[in-house]
Amino acid sequence: MPLICKVQGICNSSQSVSYDKNFMDVGLHPDDSYKPCVIGFEIVKLICHIFEVLTVPSVGIMIVAKQKPINEIVKMLEGTESVLVVGCNGCTGVYQVGGKKEADALKARLLESTNIKANVITVPRQCDRQMSLASVQPLVGDYEAVLSTACGVGVQILAEIFRDKTVIPANNTMFIGMREKELGKFYEYCKACGDCILFETGGICPVTKCAKGMMNGPCGGCVDGKCEVSFEVRDETGKIAQTIKNDCAWYLMYAKLKQTGMLNSFSMYRSPRDRSISDSPRMF
Ligand code: SF4
Ligand code: SF4
Repeated sequence: MPLICKVQGICNSSQSVSYDKNFMDVGLHPDDSYKPCVIGFEIVKLICHIFEVLTVPSVGIMIVAKQKPINEIVKMLEGTESVLVVGCNGCTGVYQVGGKKEADALKARLLESTNIKANVITVPRQCDRQMSLASVQPLVGDYEAVLSTACGVGVQILAEIFRDKTVIPANNTMFIGMREKELGKFYEYCKACGDCILFETGGICPVTKCAKGMMNGPCGGCVDGKCEVSFEVRDETGKIAQTIKNDCAWYLMYAKLKQTGMLNSFSMYRSPRDRSISDSPRMF
């Protein structure tokens, strides 16, 4: 019987592999009677590989995450005999928190400190269901659990696809931002508020960059262009390692709007944010 696959259309191949409900779950096959096609499966893997080679170096702004302390990861793995560490070459891979190198390093640390059998596979983007399925499916059957080095989206996608597996997050997902190379730090740029006002604020986000999230600033606490609220960087034990004085977002905004002849935007009244827009779960 011809097999239908959204990846490659109609397939008469006799090479179909045995049916797996996971394929249904990601929408590759619309009916229980259809089976996954080996050729289609290989095509997805090839696309993943090309995507990985072509796109990874160009990603700039992204979801920022940082690895959990190893003790916390080991604790979540208690009672598990085998784990597949799944790296992500998307956001977390680009800034070297969850790519292949980091997934390999995590596996090495697990082998050092536990008796768990571990292996590594890397996905171009774990947040892409089809890529994750095509990359992880061939190996996952041999492992009790999956340890993801992606952001929270990637972890949830793996949990959805591999419903019979315990999926463990290796990272804490922090924010949408980017790394300032010179300072060697990650900075938050967007809270995904759902109602972007960057046009009227000179491209500077008050929701994210103003410590009080003021819609009509400045607050009066700005001293020499610096925010009155200090930012504390903590180490792994929770102790304050550094205190940083950020620029006042509204000070920056004034300078930018003045430069672009848009100061009328600075003084206009903005209504409080409609937080219902960003109530979770969101979809559109
Ligand atoms: S205004 Fe909202 S959408 Fe725009 S950058 Fe700020 S948080 Fe993001
Ligand atoms: S000083 Fe500026 S950035 Fe800091 S809270 Fe006040 S308005 Fe916001």
